[in-house]
Amino acid sequence: MLIDTHSHIYLKEFDDDLDNVIQNAVNVGVEKIILPNINLSSIAKMKAVKLAYPLLTELAIGLHPTSIDDNYKKELDAMFCDFNPTQYVAVGEVGIDLYWDKTFIKQQKDAFNDQIEFAKIHNIPIIIHSRNSFDEILDVLKPHIKSGINGVFHCFPGNTEQAKCVVDMGFYIGIGGVLTYKNSNMPAVVKNIPLQYILLETDAPYLSPVPKRGKRNEPAYVKYVAEAIAYLTGDTYETVCATTGANAKQVFGL
Ligand SMILES: [Zn+2]
Repeated sequence: MLIDTHSHIYLKEFDDDLDNVIQNAVNVGVEKIILPNINLSSIAKMKAVKLAYPLLTELAIGLHPTSIDDNYKKELDAMFCDFNPTQYVAVGEVGIDLYWDKTFIKQQKDAFNDQIEFAKIHNIPIIIHSRNSFDEILDVLKPHIKSGINGVFHCFPGNTEQAKCVVDMGFYIGIGGVLTYKNSNMPAVVKNIPLQYILLETDAPYLSPVPKRGKRNEPAYVKYVAEAIAYLTGDTYETVCATTGANAKQVFGL
């Protein structure tokens, strides 16, 4: 059960060959691809991909932190006004990104908090994007933990200590192509965190794993992530796929 829990295959990078990309994924055994949203303008294409591949794909809805500015409340209202819980498996991707720009840090925190509240009301998990912002994420998230909110820190950017903190809060660690990069913290994280807390992802079209690094990423390449984990932990490839697949089913209710 190979599941790509984070893939933006609705972006223009896939306009010309999405059928092939989907076939490649199926050929290597990918059984589900979760598509997290970015902003209002990405919803229509995301839904179109779901319509074209209804059994293979699942959707998440949310406003990405790099899309947040002074208008975020209007955008959230428009995004969630016709929310239908049967259409979405999660709220995402949401969070705080202080790598590119700190101008809207207050708005990013508020929007993150509002979207956590929305996920709590609908009893669905959240897909968290965190970049140079682990402490800020914790500040916003921690008061909600006792409500039972859960989800995943996608493309987990932290160290082993931070990973343990994430797991203690009941969240999963999303592991993608960065695991295969030189100087990555992720091998240490993967060796120290039980497989029961790990989800596989690509973040396609970004962050291709070795041996595809530098090329466009696609869901089929999630197999390289599973192979890298198996190599590091000593588990079989099948165990890595089965355990992380079961984790994804559990958290997203697949
Ligand atoms: Zn993403």
